[in-house]
Amino acid sequence: MSKIRMPDSKEISFVKTKINREFNNQKQQTCCKLCGKEIIKDSKAFHKSHTIPYFCLENIKGLYNKNYGVLKADYPGLRTVFSDKEFIGTNKAGVFYSICSKCDQEKFSVYESEEALLNKDPQDMVNSMALKIYLNELFNTRFRNFKNTIDYSKLTDEQIISSYFEYVGNMEEPTVECDIRDFEADLQSARTTYENGYRNYKIIYHTILNYTVPVAAQTSIPISHNVDYSKLQEVAQIGHKRIEDLLICIFPLKQKSVITVFYKVGDALMKKYSKQFLKLCEEDKLREIYYLLLRYKASNYFYSPLIKEILNDKNVRSIFSIEDTAIKMGGRIIHFSMFEEYNWKENLPSILSEQYSVQNLLKSDSSC
Ligand SMILES: [Zn+2]
Repeated sequence: MSKIRMPDSKEISFVKTKINREFNNQKQQTCCKLCGKEIIKDSKAFHKSHTIPYFCLENIKGLYNKNYGVLKADYPGLRTVFSDKEFIGTNKAGVFYSICSKCDQEKFSVYESEEALLNKDPQDMVNSMALKIYLNELFNTRFRNFKNTIDYSKLTDEQIISSYFEYVGNMEEPTVECDIRDFEADLQSARTTYENGYRNYKIIYHTILNYTVPVAAQTSIPISHNVDYSKLQEVAQIGHKRIEDLLICIFPLKQKSVITVFYKVGDALMKKYSKQFLKLCEEDKLREIYYLLLRYKASNYFYSPLIKEILNDKNVRSIFSIEDTAIKMGGRIIHFSMFEEYNWKENLPSILSEQYSVQNLLKSDSSC
């Protein structure tokens, strides 16, 4: 019997490069997503936009396998030959292409500097932050959708590779389509809010810490359970209704950090969540914010390589592995989130606390 030959990572990354090229060559979006200016037909290119400001990533970058950069959000997860690299250079981290250079320079300067983040009223910055979050989420979800619907047999002769990507695509496709619908609507709402200067976002947490946290984030979190684990909403159901999300920004600065957490006014479930969140003490709030990233997102935030040992912690890995999916067994629906153990959150290293600041990690790094 002939043995199945497993493809190596080089062959897989060759296919991934082809996917990227095909995605870049498609003409689904040709105009700037914000001002509508024609870009592709005028033979111009979309601006290379950073979701998390580049200078924040520079503040946490570190040495990893002889290169300087940051670790991706899925670092605590299991890795297979199909996984993307766990490390990325700061110039490529959190990058998306869907607006023109003028919009990129004009619409985000309100918060994209250390000086603004430290001195401005957060209420004046959240509209712009939300706009960038949804531009990035929509771009990423469209890319995922593209990957789910592409004909892989045209990209590779290796059947294992095409079968793998097709399998992942079939699993994801129905929910990704709802995600596109949601992010498209959230982006339109963020754009209207930004253009009219409405106060449509409710800030539930804003702080300036006197140390640099080893994580940078600017992302939306589709929360399924409240602080006390009671159910809030279905987030992975096929054909789901609009998912409410919490927006989290964690900006590491040179000697300080700015953290802002907010949601869209009118999102009743997020209001319900915020009631429990606001009752937590300061220390628990920081732990909860990191828990939310770990529990609900596998992309769109980045770690300093200085924290890599802590990311191997059992509680970090356990929380990262929880999924909001369900299976049918003997007429009953089993939700995987049921297997979450409450002591994981209680024992989670509080990565946003001073103990794990870049300043402290550098001290212990140089002492060994
Ligand atoms: Zn534009």
